[in-house]
Amino acid sequence: MSRSQCPTADKLETFATAPMQYPQISEHVASCPRCKKIVEDFRDENSVVRTLQNLSESKLKPAIQRRLVSRSRDAVFHSDQAAEDGVN
Ligand SMILES: [Zn+2]
Repeated sequence: MSRSQCPTADKLETFATAPMQYPQISEHVASCPRCKKIVEDFRDENSVVRTLQNLSESKLKPAIQRRLVSRSRDAVFHSDQAAEDGVN
């Protein structure tokens, strides 16, 4: 992989989640500010998702968790209804 050829965004995203598996991309990113920025953006995105997951998994009280779960089930149910209404 030459320095002038940047990996695709897809590859950079995969690399951002599993850097150890892609030493070549790691080398490129180290020498390419543009790709470095893209990888950092993907990592930021992932850490936001992870923070939200941690919040819902560990920091909320069980009662609140149950309420969220039943609420999201309701949401799925209602959206199914809406879809059927739309078809009919
Ligand atoms: Zn690059």
